[in-house]
Order: sequence, then C-alpha cells, then structure tokens
Amino acid sequence: LKSCTPISVSKVRVIVRVRPFLAHETSSRNGDPISCSSVLDQDFESPQDEVAVYLKDPLTSRNECYQLDSFFGQEDNNVGQIFCREVSPFVPGIFSGCNATVFAYGATGSGKTYTMQGTDEQPGLMPLAMSMILSICRSTGSTAHISYYEVYMDRCYDLLEVKAKEISIWDDKDGQIHLRGLSQVPINTMSEFQDVFSCGVQRRKVAHTGINDVSSRSHGVLVISVSTPSADGTGTVVCGKLNLIDLAGNEDNRRTCNEGIRLQESAKINQSLFALSNVIYALNNNKPRVPYRESKLTRILQDSLGGTSRALMVACLNPGEYQESVHTVSLAARSRHV
Ligand code: ADP
Ligand code: MG
Repeated sequence: LKSCTPISVSKVRVIVRVRPFLAHETSSRNGDPISCSSVLDQDFESPQDEVAVYLKDPLTSRNECYQLDSFFGQEDNNVGQIFCREVSPFVPGIFSGCNATVFAYGATGSGKTYTMQGTDEQPGLMPLAMSMILSICRSTGSTAHISYYEVYMDRCYDLLEVKAKEISIWDDKDGQIHLRGLSQVPINTMSEFQDVFSCGVQRRKVAHTGINDVSSRSHGVLVISVSTPSADGTGTVVCGKLNLIDLAGNEDNRRTCNEGIRLQESAKINQSLFALSNVIYALNNNKPRVPYRESKLTRILQDSLGGTSRALMVACLNPGEYQESVHTVSLAARSRHV
C-alpha cells in the first residue's frame, strides 16, 4: 500500500463536474455554455495541473473564467472516471490510517446526489468507494464499517437508527472529535451496503418534516471506516476513514425568495458552506489558523481535513443555469488558492 503523502500542491483539490442537459431541458444553441482549457502553471518548480473553466453568459456571450484543479464536462459523463482519477488515490491511505473527505458541492439540481449516490446503472462515488474498500479488505484482513448521518440546521442526526436520532458532538482532551452514540454498521458485501445505506437514504428524505423531501437542505455524510491489523504483528489496529458528503444545495439568497423556516435553513446552509470554504482556503494557503469551529460541519470534519488527510471538492454544475453556476464556481475557486 502506498503512503498517503499528498502529491499535489493544493491540499484540497477542487474540481468541476458539469451534468448533461436532461431530456426535458433545452440545450444551449450557441455552443457549450461551460467549457475548459488546460493551463500549465509555470511558476511552480514541479508544474501543477490546472484548468481554466469558462462560463458563457447566455445574454452577453461574455466568458467568466476560473482556475481549478480539474474539469469533467458533459461529454465525459461517467462517475467512474472521476472515481478512478480523483478518489481512488485516497483509498490506500485509509488503510494506513489517513483520513480523507470528498464533497459534492453545488446548487439543488446540479447533480450532487447523482455524483455521490448515483443510480443502479451508474453507481456514484459512495458505492464505488465502498466496493474498492471491500475488495482491499478481503486481501488485507481489514474490516469496514459505515455510519451515515446528516447535519441539518447545525444539528446531527443518525440515519442508521430506526428513527433518525439526534447525536451530540464532544471533543476529548486530545482535541479528537466524537459523535456520541453514532451507529457503526459492519459491512462485508455490497449487498449489505446497499441494504443499510438505502434505509438511511429513505430516512433522510422524511426526517424533520415527515413528508417533504428536505434531503437537499441537509448535508448527508457517509463515513466508511476501516480497521487494519498493523503489519508489525504487535496486534495493534490502524484506523482510517473516508467521509463522502452530499452537501446541502447552496443558494443565492439574492435570487431565491425564501421565507420563514426556509430562510432560516438557507441561512444555516450558506453559513456552513461559507465556513467550509474558509477552512479549505486556510488549508490550501497554509494559514496558521484554520477556522474549524465556525460551523458544526467543519468541526466534525476537523480530523479529516488538513494534517495528513486528503480531500476533494467536486463543484457540480447545471449547464442551463448560468448565474447559479457562476455562484458555485466562484466559491469553489475562491476556496482553492490565493
Ligand atoms: P442535486 O442532488 O444536486 O440536487 P441531482 O443529483 O438530484 O441534483 O440531479 C438532478 C437531476 O439531474 C436528477 O434528475 C438526476 O438524475 C439528473 N442528473 C444529475 N447528474 C446527471 C448526470 N451526470 N447524468 C445524467 N443525469 C444526471
Ligand atoms: Mg440531492
């Protein structure tokens, strides 16, 4: 197994994925509204792959341009490729005790859930990661467990309990974060995973209101934890985990007309996404202080972002929504580099 030293200069990779137009959506008539070209950054001794992402304003045809780490356009609509190139390199590290985190970030309808969960025909990053981890477990004698919870209005709910249960967070004297009583279910096969995870997904859909699908208004966090007997034969166990997060849809409050509870939710969502972006910015720019404590989400992820941990943010875009895409990409690009 390879070690988990970060290979790239930026500690949290930020990439873009554009979903295709859906059958009922009209595609743009004047070329691809979101495109990209490669940039080789000459300032670095070891050149870093970088891409320039262009978003074309449908009204003026002017381009907005942002620098990011990688780009997956409508034409390579295959989550498997994103998994192979961007997520699978994290997996060996998890078996040697390094944590990793993958976020899907973007507006509602941009393809976050499709990217993370996928469908039966097109499994997303969550099942692909589970499958790779299970096959490594079989050859190393490691064991895998999953937890699945959501963060809604800055509260955490366990989604693997029969009734989504609120869980509390505490830091121990060493600064480790614990989620008190969070379920951890052992997983040996993909069919076990599908059974356990799909129950959690159903719970996320009806939690809080009982009827409405508010799943896009909470952050859904799947944690795959791995315990590996250490190679030195001392009987110690090495633990690592992969967090796979379907973030709540980011909203541009200047454009949505939310009221009441929706407005409060929206404020909490934007606050936590902003806090996340601040944490990523601090990590990528070697700031001495990383503001983990600004939101529940970043506080929980403190042991899985920064340090030896590796992370990836997938900014998901709907090609038919220009303003919304600019909003998403500008925040993603802002968190990436100085
Ligand atoms: P979000 O979770 O960001 O709100 P979804 O993942 O639910 O968005 O995607 C919105 C719609 O677009 C769904 O109908 C989904 O099936 C479809 N979709 C998203 N991404 C893709 C893709 N890459 N290929 C085909 N259909 C997609
Ligand atoms: Mg969704």
